[in-house]
Amino acid sequence: MAESRFFQPKIEKLSRKELEKLQLKRLKWTVTHAYKNNKVYKQKMQDVKMAPSDFKALKDLERLPFLTKTDLRDWYPFGLACVPLKDVVELHASSGTTGKPVVGLYTRHDLDVWTECMARNLYMNGLRKEDLFQNAYGYGLFTGAHGFERGAQRVGALMAPLSSGNTQRQITLMKDFGTTVVGCTPSYAIYMAEVAKQMGLDPTKDFKLRIATCGAESWSEEMRKKLNTAWNIEAFDHYGLTEIIGPGVSSECPQHDGLHINMDHFYPEVINPETGETLGPGEKGELVFTSLTKEAFPVLRFRTKDLTILIDEKCRCGRTLFRHARLMGRSDDMMKVKGVIVFPKQIEEAVMTVNGTSENYLIVKSKTPLGYALKVRIEPSADFHGDRTVLAKAVSSEIFAILNLDVPVEVVDIGVIPRSEGKAKRVIEE
Ligand SMILES: [Zn+2]
Repeated sequence: MAESRFFQPKIEKLSRKELEKLQLKRLKWTVTHAYKNNKVYKQKMQDVKMAPSDFKALKDLERLPFLTKTDLRDWYPFGLACVPLKDVVELHASSGTTGKPVVGLYTRHDLDVWTECMARNLYMNGLRKEDLFQNAYGYGLFTGAHGFERGAQRVGALMAPLSSGNTQRQITLMKDFGTTVVGCTPSYAIYMAEVAKQMGLDPTKDFKLRIATCGAESWSEEMRKKLNTAWNIEAFDHYGLTEIIGPGVSSECPQHDGLHINMDHFYPEVINPETGETLGPGEKGELVFTSLTKEAFPVLRFRTKDLTILIDEKCRCGRTLFRHARLMGRSDDMMKVKGVIVFPKQIEEAVMTVNGTSENYLIVKSKTPLGYALKVRIEPSADFHGDRTVLAKAVSSEIFAILNLDVPVEVVDIGVIPRSEGKAKRVIEE
């Protein structure tokens, strides 16, 4: 029998009916808890003439207004807490791209939920007790490193908290320790392979690495192929955000066909971002989450701004938990170019499809009266010795094939585009 990779088979294979029953029970608890213990949530429910007793089916949630980034900013830092601060034991924050950071609060129980979700995801990726997990997410207020640390230890793996940065040391220790699984952003995993080569090492032969657990960026399938080849490993996508819990919301099974959502803790919806209308499975829209078990900072219909589709069919791996497709991008990243909607990830796909390109690229946007004008800078791969003009043309026509847009492409020298040890910055404005 094939390896099951189920950390909690009972939950992961729960029948749809049983799962909905559990979700409804937990939703009723959540709305009651939020209504009783937080005036903002109480007001939100009163505004639509709802009381906790009105939640009789999961669908009733659709009557509630959304929770947005603006709400979080307005009630920064603790205004949406639903327990007294004396019951909160951990705090995390993400750097808000504009203005105030987003604060996540955790009771002991919330930390248990987080740990369980991360363990489930890492076990599904293939992490085991026998593994050495190199945690190369940046430590600090961010959720990333801490979520992976908790999950890896819960699985029973040996967890080494290296944090991000100091790449040469990272690689030396990866070799010395015999690291088998690494956690970091996909762009950092690729950068580490580049540095390993500069150190005279062969990333495909000189290491014991077999899995990368990557999150915090939206990355294309083409980028994944490059990463898998660079180290000769299998890379898995992780998704999560501070507002919901951090990483641990969803991840991939070995089928790599969408990310399984931990739906016993997070209830997903996909909505039309323009109208707010709820969409069905298979329809592309914005992901919205309601937490079902969180105590300190529950969220009711939080708009993530992440665009995807929900997949409700049972997965070939045997899990019944819904999946969402890999993210198309954030609605925040969306650029309008000559009337065409463009996501950075589409450009990434085009760049990486062409032979002779590397994973280092930069999208340069500049404001025009009609939205944005784009150009793309790429670095050739180390083994590219051909004509750069031809390479630039090939990338440009690949972009045209995907977006139907003429985007000028410039090939720059290797090392010109800044590398990142955390979240890569792929788009700049000039
Ligand atoms: Zn699956």
